[in-house]
Amino acid sequence: MDKAILILNAGSSSVKFALFQARSLEPLCRGGIEGIGSKAQFGGSSGREAALFDREALSESSNHEAATCWLLDAIRRSEHVALVAAGHRVVHGGPDFSTPVAIDDSVMAALDALVPLAPAHQPHNLAAIRAVATAWPGLPQVACFDTAFHRTMPRLAQIFAIPHELTDQGLVRYGFHGLSYQHIADVLPGIAGEAAKGRVIVCHLGHGASLCAMSEGRSIATTMGFTALDGLMMGMRCGAIDAGLVLHLIEQRGMAPAEVSEILNRRSGLLGVSGLSNDARTLLASEDPRAAEALDLFAYRVVREAGSMMAALGGLDALVFTAGIGERSARIRSTICQGLNWAGIALDEARNAVSASCISEDGSKVPTYVVAADEELPIARAVTRVGIID
Ligand code: ADP
Repeated sequence: MDKAILILNAGSSSVKFALFQARSLEPLCRGGIEGIGSKAQFGGSSGREAALFDREALSESSNHEAATCWLLDAIRRSEHVALVAAGHRVVHGGPDFSTPVAIDDSVMAALDALVPLAPAHQPHNLAAIRAVATAWPGLPQVACFDTAFHRTMPRLAQIFAIPHELTDQGLVRYGFHGLSYQHIADVLPGIAGEAAKGRVIVCHLGHGASLCAMSEGRSIATTMGFTALDGLMMGMRCGAIDAGLVLHLIEQRGMAPAEVSEILNRRSGLLGVSGLSNDARTLLASEDPRAAEALDLFAYRVVREAGSMMAALGGLDALVFTAGIGERSARIRSTICQGLNWAGIALDEARNAVSASCISEDGSKVPTYVVAADEELPIARAVTRVGIID
């Protein structure tokens, strides 16, 4: 029997999961459940233990709790795997949680209190923790936070130029995608050697997108802010815009806050600018000039913000691309790297075309890499480190 750790990443209508061997952290299986709340379905799984999960047995009407029970029941029936702990992606750790934490009642109360900071995501993350506690009483559980990696940022990178009373109430830049950045910090020394210990910019470019400036593997600046709406242009989110524009929509156009939120979170970004799609692949395949403009703006915003990250770092020793667009779109990487040529980034187009691990020329002052995103492995690693497994 393999002792195993279950990792859950619960979203509003989906749950991504992964099983890792507890000692070696070998991935045993990864998969997902989609359509929760409408028509729940198992999205398939891959890996050595993929056969554990039975496509037929998940009811379409499953809510989050039922879906979690379905996963745990499948693991319970396994003759190969003995579950010893669960780890969860939790979007917000607030000002206090700067490292992964073993979950108990007082931690849950503290995490509940952070719901107003991430009302669209935190409740789903916490529901998954409660569902596991109900379905598998006594199973040790660990929470890992998307914000935690950025708690190392200096104060000036965290505070906004707003009245200090508001800063004191926690209205600061938290930053997100921290698990993705943690993974890059973990694996980059094996890929980039000495450069990984220096000044690094990581571009996490997926549906959500952000940059992180890392010094010696620690975050010193990031583009997302108090919420995940700040910074880069994204699939549907606008990224950084003039707060005065938001006030204009409310005060002059008479829009309700929910309407403004819908525009900025769901009708902007690649989707809003192109008028076509939030999916970079669709835009890359389109001949519509608006699609081209949306992609150009996406790359322009990355270049502008990368310049800001470089200023915070005082230079640059390595650049990393990760997540859907970062890993797979040679064209978007190429446009971004052309815009950063002045900073010493010389792309090797042949390497870039095949998304090689190193995509810069041999003599490039700043070596540039493509690294596969993995937000589950750093959670599994954290579970083994908090001392809850024998
Ligand atoms: P999430 O942030 O939801 O985890 P992903 O990291 O999977 O998202 O990234 C999704 C984005 O990656 C989408 O915009 C998608 O179009 C883009 N993408 C995926 N594959 C490719 C590809 N081959 N070329 C360009 N973009 C791609």
